[in-house]
Amino acid sequence: MNNETIMQYFEWYLPNDYSLWKKVSAEAQNLKEIGITALWLPPAYKASDGKDGVGYSVYDLYDLGEFNQKGSIPTKYGTKDEYLEAIQKLHKSGIKAFADIVLNHKFGADELEQVIAVEDNPQNRNNQVSAPKLISAWTKYTFPNRGDKYSSFKWDWTHFHGVDWDETRKQSAIYKFYGKHWDNEVDNENGNYDYLMGADIDLNNLDVVNELTYWGKWYVSFADLDGFRLDAVKHIRADFYKNWLVDMRTEYKDKNLFAVGEYWSRDINKLNHYLETVDNSMCLFDVPLHYNFLDASNSSGFYDMRNILNGSLLQAHPDKAITFVDNHDTQPGQALQSWIPDWFKPLAYSIILLRNQGIPCVFYGDYYGIPHDFIDSKANFLKLAIYVRKKFAYGNLRDYFDDFNIVGWTLDGDEEHKNSGLAVLLADGPGGNKTMYIGQKFAGNTFYDCTGHVKEKVTIDESGNGNFKVNGGSVSIWILSL
Ligand code: CA
Repeated sequence: MNNETIMQYFEWYLPNDYSLWKKVSAEAQNLKEIGITALWLPPAYKASDGKDGVGYSVYDLYDLGEFNQKGSIPTKYGTKDEYLEAIQKLHKSGIKAFADIVLNHKFGADELEQVIAVEDNPQNRNNQVSAPKLISAWTKYTFPNRGDKYSSFKWDWTHFHGVDWDETRKQSAIYKFYGKHWDNEVDNENGNYDYLMGADIDLNNLDVVNELTYWGKWYVSFADLDGFRLDAVKHIRADFYKNWLVDMRTEYKDKNLFAVGEYWSRDINKLNHYLETVDNSMCLFDVPLHYNFLDASNSSGFYDMRNILNGSLLQAHPDKAITFVDNHDTQPGQALQSWIPDWFKPLAYSIILLRNQGIPCVFYGDYYGIPHDFIDSKANFLKLAIYVRKKFAYGNLRDYFDDFNIVGWTLDGDEEHKNSGLAVLLADGPGGNKTMYIGQKFAGNTFYDCTGHVKEKVTIDESGNGNFKVNGGSVSIWILSL
């Protein structure tokens, strides 16, 4: 088995020129060759903002760029046929396709409804701050241009918990529909973080659960999906996805459907608790590790590198960790902006790509750059690191997180991957060297830094140790010199 590497195949500011699915088709073989094994594709269904929508403001889950809704037939990324073709091209190249599943909320209703609602305190949603009153809410979804194709389900206010906009008074607030309650098993930020945005879907409503289960089964087979990236799971009662995944996996037993949840919190206890609640049925993004990268990269060399993995999912639950450096939410200008600066990117990517723990997810914006913000492509380094991951990152892991500035690890290789094994050394401050054990079988062999940062080679001594070097604020990646 080769190491897996996911790529998140979009960033926030892609042009709205319907071209992404075609790019996926065109690039599939190249991506396979550099070592990508799965793509996380952006939300593929019609958003309320049509071709301008990244996809998270979901209007119609069944419109994968097929119906003239919200101003165009295609979504921002292309048509339904181009989407299906892209996934087939990925499969032909041996790459899995993961769909972005957004079931917390909907946007862009077709009609208004008069609903009795109460206002909750935005900072503490357990606290009601108004008497019941009649509001007009955008909650009726009839999909006039799709009609009943694929599903005849129409949404109305009874399928939602609440909204944040009263059209009559032109007023924004947290409106909870009278007689409804926010879900219990959600994040406790703001008292109860069930409500995030738009019309919050009521996942206690049996009709809704049945419809979303029906939709999921339809989607997996219609698009031939291999897995899911589950959006905003901390705003959705944990049981919902636990059961939904059981339904999907029961329906498609042969598919071994993958799932990763987006639980946006740097508190490892919350991630552990969520994993326990959903019976470990999904992986989670390693948000704490991202924030460790951010802290380290903003400390101008004064971060204690011994702590870089502390509190991460990679450390607590490596088999459930989907590690990443940045994503479409953390990039400049976005909701969770916490962008890792250029100088630290090779260090962070080495940590996620070159340890054989967790599954790393490489960000499109790092691989291709982000023209909107004049951010350059890091493809050269990423290609190298993904290649090294695929060829050499195997065997027993030995950590040397033992110094304020310079940390590293080795992998001693395995039988299956010829010449595998590596050593990595990182320095956030001044450079230096460290003696690390890489394996007695390498005694007398020479290793070289494939990044080219350090020119001298390292010969392994008879007890299996090498004295590896790294430059200041840099990374060196040592592989066997043949
Ligand atoms: Ca919710």
